Amino acid sequence: MNEKAASFEDGVIEKFEEFINKRYLSNLSTALNTGMHSLIVDFTELDKFDPELTDFLIEQPEDAIKLFQSALKRIEMVPEDEELNIRFSNIPESKRILIRDIRSKHIDKMVSIEGLIRQASDVRPVSRIITFECPACGTKIDMPQSGTTIKEPTVCVNCGRRGKFKLVDKTLVDTQRIVLEESPEQLASDAQPRRMSIFLTDDLVDPKIEKKTVPGSRVIITGIVKEIPIVDRGTKSTRFDLIINANNIEPSEKEFDEIELTPEDKKIIEDMSKDPLINKKLINSIAPSIYGYETIKEAIVLQLFGGIRTKRPDETNVRGDIHILLVGDPGVAKSQLLKYVSAVAPKARYVSGKGASGAGLTASVVKDEFLKGWSLEAGAIVLANKGICCIDEIDKMEKEDRVAMHEAMEQQTITIAKANIHSTLRAETTILAAANPKFGRFDPYRPIADQIDMPPTLISRFDLIFPIRDIPDKDRDSKLAEHILSSFRKPEKLVPEISPELMRKYIAYAKRYIHPKLSKEASDEIKSFFVGLRSQKSRGDEELKPIPISARQLEAMVRLSQASAKIRLSNIVEGKDARRGIRIMKYCLNKVGMDTETGELDIDRIATGISTSQRNKIMTVRNIIRELESRYGANVPLADVIDAAKSKGIDESRIEEIIEKMKRSGELFEPKHGVIRRMP
Ligand code: ADP
Ligand code: MG
Repeated sequence: MNEKAASFEDGVIEKFEEFINKRYLSNLSTALNTGMHSLIVDFTELDKFDPELTDFLIEQPEDAIKLFQSALKRIEMVPEDEELNIRFSNIPESKRILIRDIRSKHIDKMVSIEGLIRQASDVRPVSRIITFECPACGTKIDMPQSGTTIKEPTVCVNCGRRGKFKLVDKTLVDTQRIVLEESPEQLASDAQPRRMSIFLTDDLVDPKIEKKTVPGSRVIITGIVKEIPIVDRGTKSTRFDLIINANNIEPSEKEFDEIELTPEDKKIIEDMSKDPLINKKLINSIAPSIYGYETIKEAIVLQLFGGIRTKRPDETNVRGDIHILLVGDPGVAKSQLLKYVSAVAPKARYVSGKGASGAGLTASVVKDEFLKGWSLEAGAIVLANKGICCIDEIDKMEKEDRVAMHEAMEQQTITIAKANIHSTLRAETTILAAANPKFGRFDPYRPIADQIDMPPTLISRFDLIFPIRDIPDKDRDSKLAEHILSSFRKPEKLVPEISPELMRKYIAYAKRYIHPKLSKEASDEIKSFFVGLRSQKSRGDEELKPIPISARQLEAMVRLSQASAKIRLSNIVEGKDARRGIRIMKYCLNKVGMDTETGELDIDRIATGISTSQRNKIMTVRNIIRELESRYGANVPLADVIDAAKSKGIDESRIEEIIEKMKRSGELFEPKHGVIRRMP
C-alpha cells in the first residue's frame, strides 16, 4: 500500500474516532451494555461533523465501514474481540433514489431507498466469512462472502500459489431476504412498481426488528448495491442481478395520508367545505366521463372519506372502512369506474381478481429462490394497507384468497400459517370491488348470492352492494350516447370540477383532522330506521319471518354518516348525515335485499343466498317428501312431489329449483331418474 493511501486511511480512522468521542460515547456504551450488536450513527450528524467522511462512506462504503470499525477498536470501552456493526440512519431524502433508477454504476456504493415490503423470507444461517487453507504452505485465508455462491481465493497471499484451496472454517450469520417494492405514489400513473431483493443480516433479523419487516410495512433501506451472477442450470451466466446488502432498515414515518397540506390548501379546503353544493361537486368529480350512477358515485365519495375506526373498551375493533361491491351486466363501465377511483384516490391499487397472480389478493407463502427457504408474500390488499384496493372481477379470485378475504374484510388482518411461516399482516384496506353475474346478466328475481360466484358470507361483508343492469331505455340511452359521443368531440368538457389533486388533499385533510362523533339525533335516526325495518309485519305467523336488516347494515350506516360529516369537516355526525347514510343503504337494500316474491326486505337474500320465502318453500317440500315416504318408503317419485307442491301453491319451475338446491346441499339425492330420496 502506498503512503498516500495509508495516510488517508489513518485520517479517516482518526476523524471517526474523534466523532465518536465527541458525540457517540453514550450511545456506544448503551450498545455495549445492552448487548446490541450495532452502533447506529445518524448520517446527517456525521455529515455535519465532516462531509468528507460521508462522501467516502457513500462512494466506498465497505472500506469506510471497515475503517470506522478500526476506529471503534481504539476506543477504550470497546472490548478487544467486539465486532460491532455500524449502521447509518437518517440519510437525507435528497440522497434517496428510486428502485427503478438503480444501475450498474451504483454497484458497491451506498444507497438509500424507500418502499413497501412485498416479500419476507424466513431467517436462515448463511456463511459470511469462509476460511480457506493453502494446501502448499498452510496459510489460512479469510474470504468475506456476499453473494449466493462461494467466493474462493484465487492466489495464496503468502506463497503465491494458484489453484484449489481447502475450506476449513466458516462463520455463519442469520440472513433474511426481503423484496422491496416501490410504493404507489412513487409511480407514474400507469407504471408497474419495480422490485429489489434486499439481504438483512445479523441483528437486522432480530425478532424485535422482524416486527417492522413484515410484508406490507413501509421502510427505508440503507445499503450497499451488489451484483450477483444469475445461476442458470448450475452454470454461472454473464447476466447479473442487482441486490442490496442492507446496512440499516428503518420504518418509514410517512403514512399513506402524508400528503402535504400548505396553509393555502387548508384555507381552500375549509372554504370548499362550507359550499352548500360541495356534495354535488364531489359526486360530479368522480369519473365525469361515466354517465349516470349518481348514487354509486355518491357512495364512492363517502367511501373515499371513510368512517372512523373505533376501538371498543373490550379491545375489539370496528372497522371504519366502507366496502362497496358493484355487480352488473357486462359493459356498464364497472372496470372503468374502478380504474378511475384507483387513479384519484390516495394509496390506491387496482387489481383484477383474475390476474392477481403470485400473492394474489391477500398473502401467500412462496419458495425463496435465493435462500432456498420459504417467503411470505403480501398481496394487493396488504400492500394497500390504509388505502383503497379496487378489485375487478372479484368473483374470479383464487380459492386460497376467499378464505383470507373474510378475515381481511372484517378483522382487517390476514393470518397466514404455512410451511414454517406464521404471521399476521395488517390489512386496514377499503375495498371497492366489481363482479360479473354468474349467468352473464343480473337477474333481479334471484338472490344476489345465487348470482355471483362468491360465498354469501363474503358478499355480506360489503357495506353496500349495487347491482347495475343494462336495460334498454330510450330516454337514458340517448343521453348516454350523447354523453359518450361528446366525450369524443369535446373531451375538455369532462374535466372534473374538483381536480384529483385537490380531491386527494381534501380527503387527506378530513382523514387527518376530522373524527366526528355521533350526535343523539343521528343515532336516533339510525336506530328508528333499524328497529322500524326489523319489526315489519309479515303475513302468516307460523312462517319464518324474514330478517330485513342486520347489525352489519347498522354499522354500515354509521360509517356512511361519519363519512358524510367528514365532508363537511364537522366533528359531529348530524341528523342529516344519518339520513344520507340511511338513504343510500335503502337504495341498495331495495335493489338487492328485496324479496321479489313478497316485496319485503330480507337480508338473508344477501347473507345466506336463500330468501325466507324460499326457505319456507323448502320446508314445505321437505314435509311433502316426509308424507310421501309413509306411502312409498325411502324412494319417492319426483312427479308426486311436484304435484303435491303445486297443490300447495308453489309453481313448477320453483319446485325444481328448490329440489336442485336441496340436492346440491346434500339433503337429497336421486338414486335413479325420476326418484328422489332423503339422505339418512
Ligand atoms: P364492465 O367492466 O362493466 O364490463 P367497462 O368498464 O369495460 O365495463 O366498460 C365498457 C365501455 O363502455 C367503456 O369504454 C365505458 O367507458 C363504456 N361505458 C359503459 N357505460 C358507460 C356510461 N354509463 N358512461 C360512459 N361510458 C360508459
Ligand atoms: Mg370489466
